[in-house]
Amino acid sequence: MARRRQLYEGKAKILFEGPEPGTIVQYFKDDATAGNGAKSGVITGKGVLNNRISEHLMLSLQEIGIPTHFIRRINMREQLVKEVEIIPLEVVVRNIAAGSIAKRFGIEEGKRLPRSIVEFYYKNDALNDPLVSEDHIIAFGWACPHDLEEMTGLAMRVNDFLCGLFAGIGIQLVDFKLEFGRAWEGEDMRIVLADEISPDNCRLWDTQTNEKLDKDRFRRDMGSVKEAYQEVARRLGILLEEGNSTEHKPTDTPV
Ligand code: ADP
Ligand code: MG
Repeated sequence: MARRRQLYEGKAKILFEGPEPGTIVQYFKDDATAGNGAKSGVITGKGVLNNRISEHLMLSLQEIGIPTHFIRRINMREQLVKEVEIIPLEVVVRNIAAGSIAKRFGIEEGKRLPRSIVEFYYKNDALNDPLVSEDHIIAFGWACPHDLEEMTGLAMRVNDFLCGLFAGIGIQLVDFKLEFGRAWEGEDMRIVLADEISPDNCRLWDTQTNEKLDKDRFRRDMGSVKEAYQEVARRLGILLEEGNSTEHKPTDTPV
């Protein structure tokens, strides 16, 4: 088979041209970075876990009518998605204070916020992804007021749904980052959820113990990073047991 053309290599994924026009393949790497690349490492198996977790969450969101770029998983590390024009914003939804909001406003980490808060960051590594206001976004033309309203509405629906989904498996959804893109169908444009949803871009705390089950374990050198991601996958009911991969499951294997 002819090698697919590589379109982009990011910090966590590689994008390849997809088999049909308007599609791309997301390849999930084991590379991990934090602090905008200041810290980097490899978490063996992370790519496989994030590919599965993101597939599961995107499909669940599609079921409640959230438009996403997800088409299908191809293999352990790759998924086929609709190519979109990424809106250069990181849309962050927060339920509990942690990370930069705790620091910026001097709120104790772990304190529940008075209500869910949606924030926008300009997606630009060279500038360290600065926090921006809706006025910045509109004035600089990154999105129009209608797109912004659409993204905020979708982000809040995603939050409501994921809070419930994770609560059901003993996990608090502290905060998460989303990316949206413009999907064109002829003249028509639709804003769809893109990129990935995984423990790389969510803060997930065990409800009972507050144990962190996300990338903060890597950022803060807490160890057991892969095990934490595995625990999230296990609770979601999608962990592929070693030696019992559903990829090539013999039909006579007792379950
Ligand atoms: P980065 O280091 O920029 O965060 P990643 O390693 O996360 O990159 O790779 C994914 C890249 O692909 C991101 O830049 C993201 O914005 C982009 N992307 C995600 N989904 C799509 C899509 N459906 N179409 C086009 N680009 C996408
Ligand atoms: Mg990324």
